Amino acid sequence: MNQVSARLAALSPSATLAMSQKSNELKAQGIDVINLSVGEPDFNTPTHIKEAAKKAIDNNFSFYSPVPGYPALRKAIVEKLKKENNLEYKPEQIVCSNGAKQSVCNTILCLINKGDEVIVPAPYWVSYIEMVKLAEGTNVIVEAGLDQDFKITPAQLEAAITPKTKALILCSPSNPTGSVYSKEELKGLAQVIEKHPNVFVIADEIYEHINYIGKHESIAQFDAIKDRVIIVNGVSKGYAMTGWRLGWIAAPQWIASACNNLQGQYTSGPCSITQKASEAAYTGDQSCVEEMRQAFERRRDLVVKMAKEISGFKINVPKGAFYLFPDCSSYYGKTTSKGSKINNSSDLTMYLLEEAHVACVDGDSFGAPKCIRMSYATADEKLVEAFNRIKKALDELK
Ligand code: PMP
Ligand code: GLU
Repeated sequence: MNQVSARLAALSPSATLAMSQKSNELKAQGIDVINLSVGEPDFNTPTHIKEAAKKAIDNNFSFYSPVPGYPALRKAIVEKLKKENNLEYKPEQIVCSNGAKQSVCNTILCLINKGDEVIVPAPYWVSYIEMVKLAEGTNVIVEAGLDQDFKITPAQLEAAITPKTKALILCSPSNPTGSVYSKEELKGLAQVIEKHPNVFVIADEIYEHINYIGKHESIAQFDAIKDRVIIVNGVSKGYAMTGWRLGWIAAPQWIASACNNLQGQYTSGPCSITQKASEAAYTGDQSCVEEMRQAFERRRDLVVKMAKEISGFKINVPKGAFYLFPDCSSYYGKTTSKGSKINNSSDLTMYLLEEAHVACVDGDSFGAPKCIRMSYATADEKLVEAFNRIKKALDELK
């Protein structure tokens, strides 16, 4: 008999990972699937980072590390925050973990009590609302549609805050929309947060380095609220290191201490070899980051151009990250050549997988039922082929 806890029974599986798994299964059956579902750079980890990991193995970095990470890595992160973001932190305020995913979850578990409200702007990254559920918090979804470039306004934030609000989760550059909040927009949100001293901001900045409009702006730059901001970041996206598993928070001391405590009982410090590789990522030559960013920007331009040729798509132009999030609702209600009806975004992604052999993720999982998500972190020629197939399949809907 299945006796899984109520906590786990309420947890949905990750839609991004599920779709990627499905596409890998079809590939294993010999079907030529183009996978635009999972969001990860298609580049190999830069050589100097791999070399640092090999050296760490030879130098016997094979023992437990301190729970929040080696001092040298935390110092490198502090220096990165100073140099790139002009933000002052002490190494004790940095806690490294097994990916930004764990860092977000650690923070939520450390901050949220049963019944606390967490404001999650939609479209949101699939895992936030599940993590809030795990912490027995209440998700308060604030909708930001395509007409507002998928970004919430200060007025919307103000209207969503109640005496029970504990946190806002803000992701910029955003997964799944690619939207990026400007400094002015962040200031507007910060001014609202400033008025509510019990509200914290979990600022997910994992796509910091994949930005097409200039310098990354962090909401932690506003001094009036800095002691209520938890920055989440890591090496997965900017340094093409998704499999290495290294994320971190830069947080008020008491939150860092609580996350340290949680990890000490739960996972211990992240992989020692990965930490040495990540230290090399932050202290080494940064030109690899810019080269990958430029490739993503070229692909962004390419997919935007191709998406504009699909008459039923409505799109925003992504300013960061590597996702396109078209509104496809004009196809809902249409019928496939085999006679089945497309009622919603999961029907549409299933149709695209089966007919076009292109894997995308349905927008429902991101709180945006009109949209689907396409990751363009893949080779240009595969993107061209994927869009040709998608266009053909969509044109066949009647
Ligand atoms: N936040 C967002 C918005 C993401 O897209 C991802 C990617 N999976 C993560 C966090 C987690 O990244 P990591 O690989 O460092 O766990
Ligand atoms: N964040 C990536 C995505 O949204 C990776 C998958 C995941 O961690 O859920 O596709």
